[in-house]
Parts: sequence; C-alpha cells; structure tokens
Amino acid sequence: MIDAAQIQPKKYDIIIVGGGMVGSALACALSNTCALSDNRGSNNKEGNSTLKLALIEGCKPLAQWPEDSFDLRVSAISRVSKNFFETLGVWDAMYEMRATAYTEMYVWDAGGNGSIHFDSAEIGEASLGHIIENRIINKALIDRVHTFNNIDIYCPNNPINLQLDSGLAKLQLDDGTLLEAELLVGADGGQSWVRQQADIAVTINDYQQTAVVANITTEHSHRHTAWQRFLPDGPLAFLPVNEDNISSIVWSTSAEEAERLCELDETTFKQELEIAFEAKLGKILHTGPRARFPIKGQHAKNYVKPHLALIGDAAHTIHPLAGQGVNLGFADAQCLANIVLMAHTRQKNIGSFKILRRFERARRGDNLLMLEAMGAFKQLFSNNTPGLRELRNIGLDFSDRVTPIKHFFMTKALGQ
Ligand SMILES: Cc1cc2nc3c(=O)[nH]c(=O)nc-3n(C[C@H](O)[C@H](O)[C@H](O)COP(=O)(O)OP(=O)(O)OC[C@H]3O[C@@H](n4cnc5c(N)ncnc54)[C@H](O)[C@@H]3O)c2cc1C
Repeated sequence: MIDAAQIQPKKYDIIIVGGGMVGSALACALSNTCALSDNRGSNNKEGNSTLKLALIEGCKPLAQWPEDSFDLRVSAISRVSKNFFETLGVWDAMYEMRATAYTEMYVWDAGGNGSIHFDSAEIGEASLGHIIENRIINKALIDRVHTFNNIDIYCPNNPINLQLDSGLAKLQLDDGTLLEAELLVGADGGQSWVRQQADIAVTINDYQQTAVVANITTEHSHRHTAWQRFLPDGPLAFLPVNEDNISSIVWSTSAEEAERLCELDETTFKQELEIAFEAKLGKILHTGPRARFPIKGQHAKNYVKPHLALIGDAAHTIHPLAGQGVNLGFADAQCLANIVLMAHTRQKNIGSFKILRRFERARRGDNLLMLEAMGAFKQLFSNNTPGLRELRNIGLDFSDRVTPIKHFFMTKALGQ
C-alpha cells in the first residue's frame, strides 16, 4: 500500500512505464505537437506541448558501441514508421548511425516451387522499408527525449506499486519515489508489469517457435533484398544490413531445434544454414554470436482502463515473420499521442475512459487483424499436408503473377 500521507507525490500529466523503442517514441510524440496529425494524416505546426511527463525505464540504455559491430537485434521499419520518425525529428540521426534500405523481397517455400518477388520499383517507391539495429532506434529516440525539458527520466528504476482507484494513477518506484498522473501508459514489453497490475488478461497464440538471431557474412552481396524461406519448422529470414555481404538472420524453429542450433560449432552451423537457405547468397563465410528468443502471439483483451493505456508489446506481440511488431507499436504511440494531445488542447481529462476508448477503438481492430493474419500464415506454411502444400505454392505463384495482389502486399509492407 502507498502511504500518501508520508511521501509527497511528484505530479505529472502522464507517466510512461518502459523507455524501449515504443515508450520513448510516445514520450517524443507527446512532447512535440508536430506529432499531432489530422484525420487525413497531415501534420500540424511544430511546437512544444505543455504536458509534463515522467518516463520510467528499468535498464540503462546503451549509449555507445564499437563502430564495426552490429546489434544482434534488428527491425524492418515500414515507410509509415519512417515518416513518424521524421515527424519526431529522429530519422536523420538514425540514418546517420546506420539504416539499410531494402528494395526487394524474395519469399519462397521449401515444400514446393512457389515463390513471390516484390520490387519497390514496381510501385514507384524508392524502397520497401529499412532494416535498422534496435540499439540505433533506441539511442536516436532516447537522445531526442533528452532534448525536451518537459520529460523527467527515472532510470534505472522499476515500479513496485500501482493504484488506479483514486481518480488518478499513483505509482511508487523502487527507490520510494511516489508519482501521480492523470494517465499512466504501459510500454513495458511483452511481460508487462503494468498490464499485470491492472489485471488485464491476454489471449495467447503460442506459435511454439523460438527465433535464432545472428549476423552472417555471405560470399555474395545481399543486393538490398530481404529474403525469406518457409521451412517446415518455420521461416528463415536474411535481412540486409549496411555492409553488402552482411545479413541479419531470424531463423524461427521449434524450441529444441533453436537450442541445438545455438549450441552447434561454427562450421556445422554455417553448413546447416547454407543448406536451409539453399545457398542463395553463396557460401556462409562467417557467423557472429547467436541468441534465441521464444516467440508467441499475445493480445491484451483491453488496451485501456480509466487512467491507464497499454501500447506496443505490452498490448500485443506478434510473430516476427512479417516484421510488423514494433511498427504496430509505433502506430499505437502515434495514435495515442494524437488523441491525448487533442484532448489536452481542448482541456479535457486525458485519463478519462471515454477519451482512452477512442485509442482502443482506433488500434485494437487493426492489431487484431494483423495478429490473426500472422497466425494463419504461420499455420499455412508449417503444415505439410500434400494438398495444402500444393495449394499454397499455387497461391504464391498466382500472387506473384497478378499485379494488383502483389501491389496490395507491397503497400501493406510499407505500412499503408
Ligand atoms: C527475433 C525478433 C525479430 C523481430 N523483428 C521485427 C521486425 O523486423 N520488425 C518489427 O516491427 N518488429 C520486430 N520484432 C518485434 C519487436 O522487437 C517488438 O515489437 C518491439 O521490441 C516492442 O517494443 P516495445 O518498446 O513495445 O517493448 P520492448 O522492446 O520489450 O521494451 C520494453 C521496455 O520497457 C522496459 N521495462 C520492462 N519492464 C519494466 C518495468 N517493470 N519497469 C521499467 N521498465 C521496464 C524494458 O527494459 C524495455 O526497455 C521482432 C521481435 C523478435 C523477437
């Protein structure tokens, strides 16, 4: 229990728990009214908002690293997220640190001859998106957070107590600090402490897969192409990073197989990877350290309660096969910032259920659609029943030949 009589609370308009990619993007969006867009998506004039924010993060973010090293974790960033970064004033910093445009995508099925090839030139776009290391996205956003004087950062700090029943959100931190605000946002990832404290249930789609990630040097250039082969146990993706011969892999497979792959000696791992990838980029010359992440689909039954909202992985996690997870999180952050800034401008209570429901209505349906599509995709490609296998190969080839279907998929990849 928080004894408010003993500790003087620090007052904020909004507390954000979790300063990862999505939480720090929200902090920037709430601090700069240029993030406020009208229904058609065009932006208002830049200016600082008058909201007072607290950002709570449990781990100190990485501030520097050797220039020739690559983060094990990368994200495929859609055009819509890139536009959001531009609005927040972080895109140039990210691009300068390192961001790789990919212009083509090639997807094929290990269980047949079906394949599909996307080329941004076909829809008159410069690229299909960018591959960016997570630590770069994080650093650019956190650096930007530090430029706003309306954000107090509590880091490294963890919350230990949350109360939502007094017309405000009251949060106690592990060092005894007491904070209160009209709105508390949980951006604290898939295991969200905030979601658990608020007693919000989740539906789970256990893909029963674990993703093995590593940076790989190949004989041939990746040609700025994102490659994905559907194997019976799960997809294997090669994502291009800045150096022509380096790709970041995400190899989704069973938990046991992922453990085995991580423990293989380098020579055997290179051989197995080359076979699994049909040596599309020639020999695997070098592999960096490997790590594995269990993956499951998870969706919060509610995104909001009075004085509380969930965004990013705290609200939903999704299979990485289409590279959508954090892009959905950025869309949540942009949408919530829009609604809250608008309400604040009109002097409405930003923590009221009525206001927050607008956010839930705007985002939950879209996210659910994407989650269900990924679940169905995963089912379709990991099912080796002969009839189904042939059907999906025909489907891939058909989609490859029918221009409107291909264009539809490409615009979805752009996040439009
Ligand atoms: C292998 C793999 C590949 C992926 N590839 C892509 C991709 O290509 N494109 C894409 O869009 N998405 C991808 N994703 C998904 C993406 O990584 C996530 O959607 C994204 O990291 C979610 O960001 P977040 O800020 O919501 O949560 P997180 O990244 O989990 O950040 C949460 C933050 O909150 C902090 N935190 C947690 N608990 C507390 C607490 N109690 N107190 C204080 N702080 C706390 C954490 O330290 C962290 O900084 C991939 C995921 C995986 C596993």
